[in-house]
Amino acid sequence: MSANAPTPDRRPLPPGLRRETLAVRTALPPSQHGENSEGLFLSSAFVQPDAQTSAQRFANSEDFTYARTSNPTVRSFEARLAALEGTEACVATATGMSAILLIIMGLLKAGDHVVCSRSVFGSTLNLFAKEFGKFGVQTSFVSQTDLAQWREAVQPNTRLFFAETPTNPLTEVCDITALADIAHAAGALLAVDNTFCSPALQRPVELGADLVMHAATKYLDGQGRVMGGALCGSNALIRDVFGPTVRTAGMTLSPFNAWVLIKGLETLALRMRAQSEAALAVAHWLEQQPQVSRVYFPGLASHPQHELAMRQQGGLGGAVVSFDVRADSPEAARAAAFHVINSTQVLSIATNLGDTKSLITHPATTSHGRLSEEQRQAAGIGQGLIRLAVGLEHVQDICDDLQRGLTTLNQA
Ligand SMILES: *Cc1c(COP(=O)(O)O)cnc(C)c1O
Repeated sequence: MSANAPTPDRRPLPPGLRRETLAVRTALPPSQHGENSEGLFLSSAFVQPDAQTSAQRFANSEDFTYARTSNPTVRSFEARLAALEGTEACVATATGMSAILLIIMGLLKAGDHVVCSRSVFGSTLNLFAKEFGKFGVQTSFVSQTDLAQWREAVQPNTRLFFAETPTNPLTEVCDITALADIAHAAGALLAVDNTFCSPALQRPVELGADLVMHAATKYLDGQGRVMGGALCGSNALIRDVFGPTVRTAGMTLSPFNAWVLIKGLETLALRMRAQSEAALAVAHWLEQQPQVSRVYFPGLASHPQHELAMRQQGGLGGAVVSFDVRADSPEAARAAAFHVINSTQVLSIATNLGDTKSLITHPATTSHGRLSEEQRQAAGIGQGLIRLAVGLEHVQDICDDLQRGLTTLNQA
């Protein structure tokens, strides 16, 4: 059998490379075959040359022994995402939710207290309020945008602030630097869910946050294929606190998913720019439609935190746009929203985001369907609200698809 002679390790990357370069180049060195596209190592165990080396490697969790503790493909994804977020380290997890689970398991104990925005992702809300309430970790939920509420919620046992910006589906933006200052003055850490912006638009650690959390399922994959999650931060947090917890508890990312995500990161900046620009065009178009009463998008001058969003998100609004269909009653609003959604012929009726295919969803009966009508009203999720996650189709085709239902509303 013949094969290439072993290839020497790739030359190390020079310092000072820009993000675009890091997004396609940061990875572990290739194997002896010299593959140019990062290899996929589907292997649960790694063979040790002898018992002594095995003992050393088991003592050092950075070495490859068993895939729950480490895998080369997962490690390449972690290195690449850390480079994009501008953090020392990253640990990958199986899903976005398991990354939040890891924050709480790694950092907190019974008797600790969390301050969290009340507008965060629904499962995040449940995880803090219900699941971790059971273990004696208490959470106070406060307004996304009112800094005084965050300050007033602090208790002597507050260890963590958790925020997500912009939020889903109303795209409320919080001031990361201001929240970091309040958290640090209270001796707490600030973790930011950066799923909606990704590091292509927003890098929370540069703005003062201590931890960045990702649902890699969304824009990091970017093509609607795999689930994944990650936490990025300092070595002191990622390597020393969360690494040991993830290895013990096992919310590890699958190497196949890591390989898909590595490829996703290579086009992240291009996709985020194109999808954000398309979302802005769709948002402007929606503002002109007489059947639409309100559009929620940080890129619009009419958005209450437009200036903050532009400063914090590199001048782009992200790719999620929500809008209210005009109606006289909640029942009529729901019927109108359903009509607009059902009239589409191109968009996918699906509750996800961060895909190249545009997705349309009715939050009040899907992501926020389990809330009481009262809770929904408090959260501002009306029956006429529609959420769009703008993909890469031609903008005019997206607008035409929405127009089908909007112009026929009075016949519905
Ligand atoms: C989807 C999502 C999550 C959860 O991620 P999963 O991969 O579905 O577990 C968390 N936060 C935000 C903002 C999300 O959109």
